[in-house]
Amino acid sequence: MSEQALTNLISPTLEEHVVDFFKEVHQHPELAGKETWTTKRIEQELNLLNIPIKDFNLETGVVADIVGDANGPMVALRADIDALPMDEATDLEYKSKIPGVAHSCGHDFHFSALLGAAALLMQEKDQLHGTVRLLFQPGEEKHLGAKEMVEAGVLKNVDAAFAFHDVSIAPVGTVGIRAGRIMASNDNFQVTVHGVGSHASAPQIGKDPIVTAAEMINLLQTVVSRNVDPADRVVVTVGQIDGGTANNVIPQECSFKGTLRSSSEESRQSAKKHLYQIIQNTAIAFDQTVDIEWDQGPTQVFNNQKLTSIVKGSASNFLQEIPFPDADGDDDFATMEQEVPGCYVILGNKGQSIMHNPDFVANPDALKFGVKLDEQVAVDVLNYLAAGGKL
Ligand SMILES: [Zn+2]
Ligand SMILES: [Zn+2]
Repeated sequence: MSEQALTNLISPTLEEHVVDFFKEVHQHPELAGKETWTTKRIEQELNLLNIPIKDFNLETGVVADIVGDANGPMVALRADIDALPMDEATDLEYKSKIPGVAHSCGHDFHFSALLGAAALLMQEKDQLHGTVRLLFQPGEEKHLGAKEMVEAGVLKNVDAAFAFHDVSIAPVGTVGIRAGRIMASNDNFQVTVHGVGSHASAPQIGKDPIVTAAEMINLLQTVVSRNVDPADRVVVTVGQIDGGTANNVIPQECSFKGTLRSSSEESRQSAKKHLYQIIQNTAIAFDQTVDIEWDQGPTQVFNNQKLTSIVKGSASNFLQEIPFPDADGDDDFATMEQEVPGCYVILGNKGQSIMHNPDFVANPDALKFGVKLDEQVAVDVLNYLAAGGKL
């Protein structure tokens, strides 16, 4: 690719507008499911672009269609819009104005880029071989939004869906693309052991739930090492434990919370089964009772083979491809990929920090690449499908 090609990626006026918009929305982060200001702000931009908004009865989030050939195929571009519950620790003049909330995952980058792509697509609307559906998705961080949108019917008649995530470990101008399973499923659990309280000096008249919970947590370390196929990537982590109020009291209860990440559906089910067996049978062994709350999260992100190769072609014009990192992250875009063929890629966004850290801010220098990627993928996928191509 030439220097010339990169400089002309998008017009300076559009880039300036997208960067300004990004800096504005970065100052107004909102938590999952509470994106009311963001929703209104996106709708304003869409109105300015004359893009009609579709009503799917969503509390937050926006759906809008750019209709080229109304009888053609439909491709969806998805950008998530929510932020994280944390204070931003930067000195930027456009830092978060909302205490305790920050765009530390870069979703502000995603939807700013999608609006930029929408502007480009409107300019070439007459040549579009179908419809581009813009999905501004709420609630990704809580794994609520994709499910909500799918249930509302936003993917009905959609032939393919595309999304990207900024990635803070890769340089600006790079992209990671891979077909098949690329991200883990993510389930969370909470276990509460019910024992019988007692004086610390008289354990024989109580039933100590702390010892039982400790035994369970130790045994959970064998879920992966002794039960899961070593070729599969699975993680079981207990990240929180709560029990007791004093050094000389055996409490009534002890609880702990953890997460299960799996690279395949088989290993996910197998690990869950063993986890339940260990917890329930350990409780029986210690003559106590236990409650397990299971919060089923998104499944693995699974990229359609053919669609991924089209996206690779789109990106190769202006981005340098890097290997897709092996990581156990997750994204609820997986829920959309269960409904329609999808492709999810990562876009280089290296800046001063790593995502989900208080000093992370998406790098605005990468915005033009995000804008162009969304636009190019939409055009190329519509062309392929309109010509009778199958996914
Ligand atoms: Zn995140
Ligand atoms: Zn994210």
